[in-house]
Amino acid sequence: MIAPPLPNGPTDRLKRPLRNLRISVTDRCNLRCRYCMPEAEYAWLPRESILTFEEIDRVVGIFAALGVRKVRLTGGEPLLRHDLATLVSLIARHDAIADMALTTNGVLLARQAAALRTAGLRRVTVSLDTLRPERMQEFARSARHADVVSGIDAARSAGFSSIKMNTVVIRGYNDDEVLDLLEFARDRGLEARFIEYMDVGGATGWAMDQVVSQREILELVAGRYGPVRELREAGWAPAQRFALHDGTVFGVIASTTAPFCRTCDRGRLTADGTFLLCLYGEVGLDLRELLRGGASDGEIVERIASAWRARNDRGAEERAELADRGILHRIESLRADTRREMHTRGG
Ligand code: SAM
Ligand code: SF4
Ligand code: SF4
Repeated sequence: MIAPPLPNGPTDRLKRPLRNLRISVTDRCNLRCRYCMPEAEYAWLPRESILTFEEIDRVVGIFAALGVRKVRLTGGEPLLRHDLATLVSLIARHDAIADMALTTNGVLLARQAAALRTAGLRRVTVSLDTLRPERMQEFARSARHADVVSGIDAARSAGFSSIKMNTVVIRGYNDDEVLDLLEFARDRGLEARFIEYMDVGGATGWAMDQVVSQREILELVAGRYGPVRELREAGWAPAQRFALHDGTVFGVIASTTAPFCRTCDRGRLTADGTFLLCLYGEVGLDLRELLRGGASDGEIVERIASAWRARNDRGAEERAELADRGILHRIESLRADTRREMHTRGG
């Protein structure tokens, strides 16, 4: 069941409220995951274009006035942003923001987990695609596997109310590890979330035959543990959640084969302040220009509200309707506008 929209916030043309904001705090990353940043070189956003903490704090207040209740900090790799805990403490002061979470690759988490928790972060999602260090070397060009595992352990010690583990499942890469990853998560009290490989901007090696579907993932799990029960929940979260007979809960994000655009209440803010209406959206609203050009909060509220009212994006559903589905953007198109990259717009 879908909860009714807030009485005063804008709703879009498909009657979806704006309640969720993903904020990319940097476009830089210390990994090179093959499904996100496979290229040898990238062009980065100019440093002076990146929103300051004060600007992000102001933007969060503006979005809260529009009905946003959930914020997720992401990137690029958000823990590369110097002193992220300070931003967390600024956002935590907004009473209207009931939920704040972070998505990280975990490489730098061990050092920062306690400070982030103290600053008011309650939930963290760590991306981990493999339990084999040599695979991470091959697929993310990093030897920091042990650091990610230490980061997860540090998050457990820091007392977060929820720790999730994101795994993008790719045929021929890590589809043989789904069950091991599920057990790894269960043993540590994390909720595993298996994500279908998406043809987002940046995934220049994407091919449909590498997508392991939700159906296949559930078959794999049921083959080992017996029948899997779907948890029917009200809400707008992207993951469908399931339970094993022993109570272990895990999620699957079926964005590629069974997209959920009809319930999408998420807007995105790029690290340089462009507000995007959809992960696949092409045009955005330049909030940085408004922020730095002296616009009042009321003016910015109105600009965002009217952009949201005009929204009819359903990018993943449109992709799924294509008869001949290939990659979304070729490298030349990504180089022409780096905001098309997943790592710039925030996953
Ligand atoms: N660097 C952080 C991380 O990896 O957790 C945060 C940003 S990353 C873009 C956010 C999430 O997007 C990660 O869980 C990552 O696995 C996921 N992601 C990136 N590219 C993807 C793709 N092509 N298909 C599905 N998920 C993807
Ligand atoms: Fe991997 Fe996240 Fe970096 Fe993309 S932004 S390359 S998913 S760690
Ligand atoms: Fe929302 Fe766009 Fe993702 Fe669909 S593709 S769920 S509309 S962000």
